[in-house]
Amino acid sequence: MADKSFNAFKMAQQQFDSIAGKLGLDQGTRDLLRTPLREYSFSIPVRMDDGTVKVFSGFRVQHNDARGPCKGGIRFHPLETLDTVRALAMWMTWKCSVVDIPLGGGKGGVVCDPHHLSDREQEGICRGWIRQIARDIGPVQDVPAPDVMTSGQHMIWMLDEYERIHSGKFPGMITGKPLGVGGSLGRTEATGYGVIFTVREALKDLGIDITKTKASFQGFGNVSQYALRLYVQYGGTPVCVSCWDQEDQISYSFRKVEGFDMDELLEITDRFGGINKQKAKSLGYEVLPGEAWLEQDVDILIPSALENQITADNVMKIKPSVKLISEGANGPTTPEADQYLKEKNIYMIPDFLANAGGVTCSYFEQVQCNMNYFWTKEEVLKNLDTKMTAAYRAVADLAKKQNIYMRDAAYMISVQRVAESCRIRGWV
Ligand code: NAD
Repeated sequence: MADKSFNAFKMAQQQFDSIAGKLGLDQGTRDLLRTPLREYSFSIPVRMDDGTVKVFSGFRVQHNDARGPCKGGIRFHPLETLDTVRALAMWMTWKCSVVDIPLGGGKGGVVCDPHHLSDREQEGICRGWIRQIARDIGPVQDVPAPDVMTSGQHMIWMLDEYERIHSGKFPGMITGKPLGVGGSLGRTEATGYGVIFTVREALKDLGIDITKTKASFQGFGNVSQYALRLYVQYGGTPVCVSCWDQEDQISYSFRKVEGFDMDELLEITDRFGGINKQKAKSLGYEVLPGEAWLEQDVDILIPSALENQITADNVMKIKPSVKLISEGANGPTTPEADQYLKEKNIYMIPDFLANAGGVTCSYFEQVQCNMNYFWTKEEVLKNLDTKMTAAYRAVADLAKKQNIYMRDAAYMISVQRVAESCRIRGWV
């Protein structure tokens, strides 16, 4: 059930206000950055399979483009609201800025439930969405991407409609496309690998040898699987992972205290990242309650499933052995839990830095499309490492210099960069 009292945009504005205060931003800059530059709300009529016409509500919010064209996903969700899209657009501005890519923040959405729509109907929504906004998005204005319940197929339908309207080929107008039609190698790995590039750097700062560490993961989907793969390549030992069980409608944790074999686990995992518990038992895994992933005697915790997972109710269960948390998911830690982690001196790599590998690789996709020249996977991942490492370094250095929490340092860097771009342009 969605919490009706929760307003993501209010939360995003509160976070911004607090950072603006710390940075001492002037009133004009604050007013500009706490609201989106542009918002579009429109109706999308679609001829349904039964012959009737249904009208869907669509949105696009461009929060800020002082540093470059806006960038951000398009969500299909029955509970989508303009305020959620506004918040997500603002968070994209900070995410692009913290990894120092020349893009601003945008987000879009359609109020619909793809579970109850045929492919043809979804294609109609995608093409209709583009028809309403085609003059205000594009490679040099605003570049959408897949998000909740949208995929590479949706992006291709959108690109095709955009190219019909503008009479040309513009593969850089949208990212997350399949390989062969303008997609980038390395996108599947990018977010999970990015998480571990930052973990690797943080462990160096903490003076910890990664080969002597153990880690526990929440989630076994795209982010977690690739984070696990690189962590193991670097010599780390994963001991526990949790995921959602579709059959029982609860989550479980799977543990091997001596460390587990990721490929063995992949063989018994479905495409939604759900692990088969009977088969896991027969392979010697302990099957524990969902929250057990958080309570392990490990050095590193990597929440990579969903938001609101480390809360005031469970944060005390984190063992004293834990030295580092890297947030693969968006918003896994609540502000109350954050306060506790700060006091316990647990090193935090915040979500919009840790999981920025995805948007960074989307930016690389755009660059390759605009050049019409595609890189090898090795080149993509090498450039990703360079970007993520530099972003981590800037945040960690500021946190150390000013003796502040990593999340605050990350926000200060990203807001400062956007504010400075607005100032140089003469907007404020
Ligand atoms: P996914 O759908 O591939 O995997 C999600 C995993 O979480 C699955 O293993 C699922 O079983 C598990 N899960 C769901 N509910 C759970 C619960 N209550 N307890 C334990 N496990 C649970 O998703 P993903 O792409 O890996 O994304 C994970 C998170 O990372 C999300 O917050 C997403 O917004 C964020 N993120 C993803 C990307 C990306 O490129 N994929 C980029 C940035 C941020």
